[in-house]
Amino acid sequence: MVDETPPGRIRIWYVSGQRLCNFRCAYCVSVNDYAKSNIADWSDEDRSRFEKVVDWIADRPFRVGVRLATLGEPFASRPFLSKAAGLSTRPNIDFVELLTNGSLLKRRLEQLDREGDIRKISLWVTYHPTEIPLARFIANARFAQERYGCFVVVNGLLFPDNEQQVVDLGRAAEDAGLRFNLDLGYDPLTPHGVHTELGAMVPVLREQAENGIDRAIRLGAHPELLDLNMAAMRDLRGQMCSAGHDYFYIGIRGDVYRCSRYQALDKDRIGNVLDEGFELRPAGEPWTACGAGFGCGNKEDFLHLRRRRPTAGPPPPSLGWVERDASAAAGRARRGGVPGALTHAAPAGPSTEETH
Ligand code: SF4
Repeated sequence: MVDETPPGRIRIWYVSGQRLCNFRCAYCVSVNDYAKSNIADWSDEDRSRFEKVVDWIADRPFRVGVRLATLGEPFASRPFLSKAAGLSTRPNIDFVELLTNGSLLKRRLEQLDREGDIRKISLWVTYHPTEIPLARFIANARFAQERYGCFVVVNGLLFPDNEQQVVDLGRAAEDAGLRFNLDLGYDPLTPHGVHTELGAMVPVLREQAENGIDRAIRLGAHPELLDLNMAAMRDLRGQMCSAGHDYFYIGIRGDVYRCSRYQALDKDRIGNVLDEGFELRPAGEPWTACGAGFGCGNKEDFLHLRRRRPTAGPPPPSLGWVERDASAAAGRARRGGVPGALTHAAPAGPSTEETH
């Protein structure tokens, strides 16, 4: 039986060890121990862990919206898709969000449709301009939205030298009736878990941070989220957060933390999903003080800060998307009667230590 009592609905960000990728982006953040591969998918151990963690999520007695992240490209892995599809059929699952480069959607969404409940599939589709033509990228994202009714967000990454590509992406997304998100590109060489200097992590902020922020906003980044991002990176003292109540992070080995920043700091590990009898007990209080100090740089995490202004309407089936205003959504629907555009009623609540 699915528990509907508060928090009742929980969001989980799980990073699995799936590694195979068909792209070779120079700035890929899946590096070192967590490197993607152009040859191999995953070790037997990682795959076995993945299957157990997904089974555990599927058996929770509460509703779950999950961002199922990978080190590689999820649509390059048939076994990964099979498990994600199975998860989407479970009654306690509100949505399964996949982070993809978009290149294989036309070929492989069919598997999710055949084996799963594709109405619950949410896609965060990031554009990598050196690897795929824009027209094909947009056509694939549009196919997912219109043919299958998936919740689709087209995502761009802003680096110092790609302004025109971001402009082109934003225009093409708008013309196609697709949601557009712009994130700041991260430097993959930032040491794991450091997160002290924004300028060190984010190349567009290296010279004059204020200029970089203005530029990002001009090109389509969400101003309030950028502001929240900066504040969460710099100083968390006295901040209240709902992570640990309605949101959790699960790492590759199955370790559970309040959020990914706590994982990076190895702070207050809650337990391990793979340990027999492990039970997740969400904090009773909706808001508790953050003890990380600073460095909360992943959107999945910092969207749970109380200082974030609440948005109207049902929360979206995504751990990264924040609707700016209802009129934008209505405009998309008007333009094309976008199937599935706002059909995913998702849990309340709220880019990685292991992947970003
Ligand atoms: S503010 Fe960030 S680091 Fe602190 S508990 Fe919330 S999600 Fe974690």
